Amino acid sequence: MISTRKYFRIIFIALILLLFYFPQTALLQTTSIEYICAGTNYETPAYIIKTDYKEPVIMIVAGTHGNEKAGIKAAEYLKENLHIERGTLIIIPKANILACEENVRCFPSEINLNRVYPGNPQGNSVEKLAYEIFSLMKRYDIGLLVDLHESIEFYRKNPKNYGQTVVIDSKDGDLFELSSFLVEEMNKGIIEDDNKYQVLVDPIEGSTAYSAQLSARHFCFNF
Ligand SMILES: [Zn+2]
Repeated sequence: MISTRKYFRIIFIALILLLFYFPQTALLQTTSIEYICAGTNYETPAYIIKTDYKEPVIMIVAGTHGNEKAGIKAAEYLKENLHIERGTLIIIPKANILACEENVRCFPSEINLNRVYPGNPQGNSVEKLAYEIFSLMKRYDIGLLVDLHESIEFYRKNPKNYGQTVVIDSKDGDLFELSSFLVEEMNKGIIEDDNKYQVLVDPIEGSTAYSAQLSARHFCFNF
C-alpha cells in the first residue's frame, strides 16, 4: 500500500527542486513520448517535456524497483501537472515496467536494475534496459538526475538500508547545499531523530544515480 505521507513528501521535494531550476508560469511546453526498449516486454515510456530553451535538462526516474509505489505515483503526478517555461524535463515513471506490473522489487527477481548500470546492449534484458536508460541520459545530455526510491528501513536505524536519505555526488558543493536545504525542510515535520532525513555522498556502484554521475549531477531520494 502506498504511504500517502511519503507520496506528498516526494511531491513536495520535487516541486521545490524543480522550482529551483525552472521558472513556472507560461504554458510553452510540448510533451512527446519516447519508448525505452521499444518492441520488447520491457517497453516503457519516457515523457519528454520540452520548451524552446534546451537547458537545464533534468531527468526523473521512478519504478526502478516495482514495489516502491510512492515515487511512481509522484512521477505520474508531476508528468500531468508540471508546467515549465524553459529547459527539458524527462520523466520515466516505470523504469522496470514488468516489476511495476508484478508489484515486485526486481523482475526477474535475481537481477537488480539498480546494480547493472551503465548496462550492456548485448547483455540480458535488464542490462539492455539499463543501457537504454543510460543512452537516453547521454543523448539528452542531462544536467541533473532525480532518482526516486523507497526503503524497508531508515538509514539511521540500520545503515544497510537507505530509507530517509538523499544520495548525491560528493564532488558537488552546490548540490550539497541544495540537498541540505531540502533535508532540513523535510525534517521540520519529523520529531523522532531516527526518522529524520540525511544527505549521503557517493551512490552505490551500478545504480542509476551512479551512472548519472558519469555525466551529470544527481539526487537519489530514498523514502
Ligand atoms: Zn529502490
